[in-house]
Amino acid sequence: MSEKEYRKDPPVASNAILNGLISGYYKEIMDAKNEKKTVCWEYQFQIAFLYAFENTIPVNFQLLTPPVENYARVAEYVEGKWELPKDLCSEVKAQIGHTLMPSLSKFKIPEPDYLITNHAACIQSPKSFDFLADYWNKEHYFMDNPIPQENPSASATEDHIEYVSMQFEQLIYEIEQKYHTPFNRKHFLKIIEGTLQLLVIYNEVLKINKYNPASIDGMDTLRFLLPLTTLNIAREYTKIMQLYIFLYNEIFERYLNNEKNGKKKEKCRLYWDAHLVPYKVNFLKNTLAKYGASIILNSAYVATCPYTREKEFLFDYPLTLEQVKNKFRQSTLFQNNQELLNYESLPTSELLARINAFTSGPKESLEKRCEKVKNIIEDFSIDAVIMNLDQNCRFFSLRQRQLQDYLVNELAIPTLVIQVDSLDNRQFSPAQFSTRIEAFLENIT
Ligand code: SF4
Repeated sequence: MSEKEYRKDPPVASNAILNGLISGYYKEIMDAKNEKKTVCWEYQFQIAFLYAFENTIPVNFQLLTPPVENYARVAEYVEGKWELPKDLCSEVKAQIGHTLMPSLSKFKIPEPDYLITNHAACIQSPKSFDFLADYWNKEHYFMDNPIPQENPSASATEDHIEYVSMQFEQLIYEIEQKYHTPFNRKHFLKIIEGTLQLLVIYNEVLKINKYNPASIDGMDTLRFLLPLTTLNIAREYTKIMQLYIFLYNEIFERYLNNEKNGKKKEKCRLYWDAHLVPYKVNFLKNTLAKYGASIILNSAYVATCPYTREKEFLFDYPLTLEQVKNKFRQSTLFQNNQELLNYESLPTSELLARINAFTSGPKESLEKRCEKVKNIIEDFSIDAVIMNLDQNCRFFSLRQRQLQDYLVNELAIPTLVIQVDSLDNRQFSPAQFSTRIEAFLENIT
């Protein structure tokens, strides 16, 4: 069997639909000032919260990071022009440069009316937003959200909920007053319900990769989370739902074809921990294919979505909207979060605080993180792990060394640790990277 047969290219049709949706979002951002919308630059804030303010368009920073090939120029420009906090990570530096360097932007990002960050996840973003708020002379709202390390899930302590809830109450009041953008609770609830339905389908898409050979590369699945983190789900619900249904069917068809044609199974199934190396994606895909290996899942998914363990498919193929509506309440994801969804009775600020506590990411306790990774390794039949100890990113590298010890000593799973800056390729050594990846794959396949 050739290398080509092991390579999993992105699903073409679904990608085209996704690109269309994201272009629509860019266009909306560019037209925002003409349409007299309030522009809010956000980082790691709940997009549902921001879209609930009427006539507001959130500009999501993850999406506005410069294309990889422009990174070095952006970084040099920023470093040469401003004195920035020394410990700023590449991502944040790139975002500052990208927003302030119009000649390299993919499009003209409108000036913000206000900026907003959440401390729930990464500590770097508030730093860059402070800088940008000063630059534009605009307000920077900052949510202090110290998720309890030992209990980061929906069961966060009541003190924590109360603390965050008070901040939400204040934020809603200030934003409504200052920008004349009333908060629409109905719209907000619609986004939450829609997001959960879409997450159920997304989980089902990933579930297909539990079968060997995998139907989709774990590097490609990540892109399909974009609609959930950037788009107005209440308004775009039908289109995003169509996209997810399409994606599910496209991937499921690959699985059926693999079964029918007795496609050779992967020799090695990998889990990638922390940031990918976007400027080496093609090299990775080709090299993995050469060794009959696949990246099945990436930890960014684990940080973003709740993980459920079942293997049986929830839906019948082909998936239809009717099935989603009828069966989504039977999913483990829904069942596990019923308490959270019992929102009708909760005041808006408390509901927001409870949903916020749900975002755990690498801040969760080491035990929880290890348990989750162990379950994934079992459920997806993972043979080896590649861990990118991106020291530039303190968020994802949090507790990675302990996780590495656990993988090697407790689970005895082959683990390769690389140290690559996921954006700044100025110090990157392609030869060293290739040699280490190839040697590792050679060893384990
Ligand atoms: S997640 Fe990592 S790379 Fe991204 S902004 Fe935070 S520290 Fe920087």
